[in-house]
Formats: sequence, structure tokens, C-alpha cells
Amino acid sequence: MGMGLLIDATRCIGCGACSSACKEQNKLPGKVEEVLTAYTWTTLQAREGLNVRRMCMHCEVPTCASVCPVAALTKTADGPVVYDAERCMGCRYCMMACPFEVPKYQWDRPVPVIGKCILCAGRIKEGKPTACAEACPAEATIFGKKEDLVWEARTRLRQKPGEYVNQIYGLTEAGGTSVMMISNVPFDKLGLKSNLPAEPPAMRTWQVLSNIPDFIGVWGVFLYGVHWITARRDDVAKVENHGNDREGQS
Ligand code: SF4
Ligand code: SF4
Ligand code: SF4
Repeated sequence: MGMGLLIDATRCIGCGACSSACKEQNKLPGKVEEVLTAYTWTTLQAREGLNVRRMCMHCEVPTCASVCPVAALTKTADGPVVYDAERCMGCRYCMMACPFEVPKYQWDRPVPVIGKCILCAGRIKEGKPTACAEACPAEATIFGKKEDLVWEARTRLRQKPGEYVNQIYGLTEAGGTSVMMISNVPFDKLGLKSNLPAEPPAMRTWQVLSNIPDFIGVWGVFLYGVHWITARRDDVAKVENHGNDREGQS
């Protein structure tokens, strides 16, 4: 089951410490933006008097990973869905397939890569909480083993039934996610999708792909363009190694 986050929207004071800590931890340039971008991996949005965090949900069976033709996205045993820019061929299927519309592309770069929260996978490996959870002064974002977070969420719902909607968002949505949320306002009013099936969309990956018109074309690229992918990989490696060309751009 791995590790995860529990976000309690009733406790969030809107300070933005989580978003700032994410920028710092991941060396993401520019200011925190109002929506998710390749350089803003988590942000707060005001809804119904609450501050609602947006970020990758780290699905248990991630559709982004299942549609990726080159396994650039993978679910780790620890919980994070991580991304390998050097594998990515830039097809952006992950962006189209994600039920939460999370992955974003660096449209401003000559060699763009995908940007999204990686659940601080490196920190988790070192036994540390995610930077956003560590920075939260109100325990509105807490980090832990997923089963402990589910237990904590159930306890809060049981102890204060009048103060919460009786639902843990992420427990079943899209097959379950490592990031979960509780709230006193129905989740659809917070801009979260309320009609996601409990069956992971990743199980229907081939249906998803068959709905993408140029699916066959991409496989053509895959078959005939290995040299092109390799060249892109080299370019990405150069950008990653030299230079931090992310710095100063937004
Ligand atoms: S929320 Fe989207 S990007 Fe994040 S793991 Fe799930 S499918 Fe992938
Ligand atoms: S853009 Fe394509 S290759 Fe890159 S991570 Fe997304 S699905 Fe995989
Ligand atoms: S888990 Fe890490 S990468 Fe994800 S939003 Fe929090 S600080 Fe950013």
C-alpha cells in the first residue's frame, strides 16, 4: 500500500506553505501559480470558503503509467508515481489519460518534459515526510502509511460527524489513490471529480488508447523513430546535466 498523504480541507488555513515548500524541494522556478503547471506541482484553490490543494493523487493503478509507451511513469512500492524524463518521448498520452488532469508539459522549452508531483519519492526513501506535509503548520496535510491515514480519516469522520462529509475522497476514486482528502463540503463543489469509477481507468487503457485518433501513428513513431527517441533522450540528459536551465523561467 505504501505511503501517502491525507489532506483535511477543514483544517487548511491557506498559508501556501505546502506549495512554497514544493517549489523549494523540487527547485521549480517562478512563483506558485493558480493552476497546476509543469513548474507548479501543487497549488491552493479557493472553493466554497475552503482552500483546496491540487496535486497528483498518486493512483494505486495509475492510468498515466499504463498509457505511457516507454514506461517513463511508474508506481513505486513506496507509493509515489515517479517520472523519468530521459525515457519520456514527449507523446503526452499521460496528460490525456490522467483522470485528474495532472501531468503538464513544459511548452516553453526546446526539449520539454512532463512536470508533476512525485510525492517527494527521494525524501520517502530517506525516511522523511514529503516537504509539503512537513511544512504544513495546521496538520491539514499529513504524511504516513496509507492504512494509518485511512484510519485517521475514519476517526475524524466518526468523532465529528457534523463537521465532515461522510466520504474519504481517494479511497475508491479511480481505483484508489495514495493522496486522500476529507472535507466539510461535497467534493464536486470543490472542483474534484465525483463520478470516477471505482475500477481503475488504467484497466481500460486499451480502450483509452483506441479513442486517441493518432494512436496508430504513435506506434509508427515508436517502430520507425527509435533514433529520434534516442536523440531526444540525449537532449533531455544534456538539459538535466548542464545546466539547470529551469532556473529563472516560469
Ligand atoms: S493523478 Fe494522474 S498523474 Fe497522478 S498518478 Fe493518477 S493518473 Fe497519474
Ligand atoms: S509524454 Fe508520453 S512518453 Fe512522456 S511520460 Fe507521458 S505518456 Fe510517457
Ligand atoms: S509531495 Fe513533494 S512533490 Fe508532491 S506536492 Fe508535496 S512537496 Fe511537492
